[in-house]
Amino acid sequence: MHRRTFLATTAAAAAMTTVSGKALAATANPTVQPWTGPYGGVPAFDKVKVADFLPGAEEAMARNLAEVDAIAANPAAPTFENTIAALEDSGRMLGDFYAFYGIWGSNLSTPEFQAVESELDPKFAAFGDKITQNEKLFARIEAVYNSPAKASLTAEQQRLTWTYYTNFVRSGAKLGAAAKTRVAAINEELAGHYTKFSQNLLADESTYIELSDADLVGLPEGLKANAAASAAQRQLAGKFIIVNTRSSVDPYLTYSPVRATREKVWKAFVNRGDNGGATDNNAIIGKILKLRVERANLLGFKTHAHWRLENAMAKTPENAMALMEAVWPAAIAQVARDVAEMQAIVDAEKGGFQIQPWDYRFYAEKVRKAKYDLDMNEVKPYLQLEKLREGMFWAAGELYGFQFKQVEGLPVYHEDIRVWEVTRGGQLVGVWYFDPYARQGKRSGAWMNAYRNQERFRKDVKTIVSNNSNFIKSKPGEPVLISWDDAETLFHEFGHALHGLNSNVSYPGVSGTNVARDYVEFPSQLNERWLSTPQVLNQFALHYQTGKPIPQALVDKIEKASKFGQGFGTTEYLASALIDMKLHLAGNVDIDPDAFEREELTRLKMPSQIVMRHRTPQFGHVFSGDGYSAGYYSYLWSDTLTADCAEAFKEAPGGFYDKGVAKRLHDEIMSRGNSSDPADQFRAFRGRDPKIGALMRDRGFPVPPGA
Ligand SMILES: [Zn+2]
Repeated sequence: MHRRTFLATTAAAAAMTTVSGKALAATANPTVQPWTGPYGGVPAFDKVKVADFLPGAEEAMARNLAEVDAIAANPAAPTFENTIAALEDSGRMLGDFYAFYGIWGSNLSTPEFQAVESELDPKFAAFGDKITQNEKLFARIEAVYNSPAKASLTAEQQRLTWTYYTNFVRSGAKLGAAAKTRVAAINEELAGHYTKFSQNLLADESTYIELSDADLVGLPEGLKANAAASAAQRQLAGKFIIVNTRSSVDPYLTYSPVRATREKVWKAFVNRGDNGGATDNNAIIGKILKLRVERANLLGFKTHAHWRLENAMAKTPENAMALMEAVWPAAIAQVARDVAEMQAIVDAEKGGFQIQPWDYRFYAEKVRKAKYDLDMNEVKPYLQLEKLREGMFWAAGELYGFQFKQVEGLPVYHEDIRVWEVTRGGQLVGVWYFDPYARQGKRSGAWMNAYRNQERFRKDVKTIVSNNSNFIKSKPGEPVLISWDDAETLFHEFGHALHGLNSNVSYPGVSGTNVARDYVEFPSQLNERWLSTPQVLNQFALHYQTGKPIPQALVDKIEKASKFGQGFGTTEYLASALIDMKLHLAGNVDIDPDAFEREELTRLKMPSQIVMRHRTPQFGHVFSGDGYSAGYYSYLWSDTLTADCAEAFKEAPGGFYDKGVAKRLHDEIMSRGNSSDPADQFRAFRGRDPKIGALMRDRGFPVPPGA
């Protein structure tokens, strides 16, 4: 998922929320105009030009600073209403602005816009510091936090007050003047490095490898068509190219029988950001790590990891490491067994080589076919993007009572974007934007984004959420067929959207997906589980030519084979998560990313046939912002919750469609955002704290005693 968070600004702005009856825009700049139209206003995507961003940002930041100064200068004694609630009501113009800024950065990037980003990101960092370092403002927040009157606030108001207080302290509000100045300087410098890191990565991901006629032999028709479509997009009609992004590279490595070209494609992909020259990220990483540890030390923490984990569900790096280390040995042991089976195939074919990383996916697919009689290409004709979208709508209807209706005529930023209104019992819940297709300037992967959060403390505001992915567009009149993995990702991102759409809180700062990093992937991962329910498959996994549902025998095979590949998936992921944590636990030392990665992976006994899912020089989760830094473990943490929660459904009489469990999920988790502690939410749903057993069972790993 994608969230553009800043170290701290007002909650409303950080949450990309918007819409205020009071917003009086001084200029006609479309990035800062109050939103108009249906649903309490929608973003005017059709009016925005790149030239609007610099002046829009200046205007929105000035407005927010004026609002914050007014709150800080209030002569009345600090109360929740005149301080915390007032802050929640500030920064709305900036929240509107971020909705556009995020889209142009992630979905429509151009060299022209990147120049704007390079200029603005350090300014945003400095702006955030101006707010968190406002002493009069912090004194008021602290007074509300320590006031006996806090006890009479609602639980949500107390939680919100805690959130503000903690975020300000974590950003340096209690530091002396010199330390504050230094923290602000560090943040500004980091912001510049983050932007450069992302832009380098994007540059390396827009390179490609052209396939020769020999490279096309044995390549499935669908992949050939994708390679042709990618070429046509770059005015290379008639050629076939593999673009250096995961969505192009992974399928090629899985299905291309041409070993030498697989190696070439693999090497280009794993060396993104690591090629020397203008787009190399190694030096930037070294600087980022140094600045992060200096900042953590100034803020009173031993390392960046300790600072980052303090307000996560895991609380400490040690807790996160303990979970990762409990799973790691089972994962690499499984890889060793899988590689042995793959090597047997190579040997039987008289290949005369040892399995290398560029062979892994290709031979894993062969084992899958041989052992489980499952050819993922047999599955694909049943996975039509639009049918599956209807399937996820249907499941959300069963679970949460949602109905989806496509609406026409709203402003969009590209002709591919479609919009649905979401209702429950005839009442508007929110709006969902869908941007499914790859295009140049769109970052790779898939993510969810909230243009506006649900809230109701001033007036009833409905959320606007979006899902974004990189499916390859089909020829006109033909359905888009996607892989099983992509179908899971589709349901995953929609799970984030459902977390936003189900939100039922008063304040935007604790709304929807504004939850702890290691909790936010839980609702999304959980939603993946509905893809493989017979109800969704029988109604929506329909063959694109015959219209027949996917045969039960094939579903059984998918189910049986689902544990296959868990060794690989868990290992490539955990290697990244462990390196992320170790980099940020290393303290104040000079780090050469390549050497650090090599040495630590050797120590971990990383299987030589697998690389990290994200090598350090391309680890955008960790180095294109504070984002998932010392936080990539979060996916495993969340998945532990997910597996445990899924077992609650499996154990229920109605299985995944059990009304009682669904209601509990809605009431205790999906509707609550960050209005209460995530550990309490989980306990209220499950009746106990999470256990690791369900996760290990899911992945086919041995369950440790007591789990
Ligand atoms: Zn996610």
